[in-house]
Amino acid sequence: MNGVEAYIGLGSNLAEPLQQLARAIAALAALPHTTLVAQSPFYASRPVGPQDQPDFINGAVQLRTTLPPLALLDELQRIEQQHGRERSQRWGPRTLDLDLLLYGDQVVHHPRLKVPHVELHNRDFVLQPLLDLTPTLRTPSGRSVAALRQQCADNNLRRLQPAACPPVPHSA
Ligand code: ATP
Ligand code: CA
Ligand code: CA
Repeated sequence: MNGVEAYIGLGSNLAEPLQQLARAIAALAALPHTTLVAQSPFYASRPVGPQDQPDFINGAVQLRTTLPPLALLDELQRIEQQHGRERSQRWGPRTLDLDLLLYGDQVVHHPRLKVPHVELHNRDFVLQPLLDLTPTLRTPSGRSVAALRQQCADNNLRRLQPAACPPVPHSA
């Protein structure tokens, strides 16, 4: 299949986060014009912003897709909604957050979509799963994700045991 390598960041800190991520990965694998290439291990991390909320579970997946970036964002937001996502407090607790981190080497400046994700370089819980997926990964500006990871602040990232990463369920 032709297409672009797109990397999606996943996060959840409500309502069985591990199951939220597993179901989200199954939904991503079932997207039209898209194949799931790989999924990262999962990590626990301290929340960004308000601290009076549970730790997050984070991970990332690598997709190959022919969906254009905004169509892919539409699909991510649809999956978030299907998982009962409610937008209330900024950076508050949520059942599911799906961010489009990288879309090939494209740069997108759109009111609804900025790619690379603007906080990519600041977040170890995003950079580490990206590195797990593709150790040689670079941003469109040529910066190595490995170097960004080394410079990034610490969110008390804890890798979960592989047994805590449910396999991707087969779609019907
Ligand atoms: P952060 O962006 O700091 O991770 P957040 O994930 O909590 O915060 P959301 O409330 O999920 O923020 O999203 C706010 C808006 O960000 C969305 O409505 C979407 O249009 C926009 N957005 C811009 N760039 C992206 C991107 N790369 N991936 C996902 N959403 C994006
Ligand atoms: Ca986010
Ligand atoms: Ca988001």
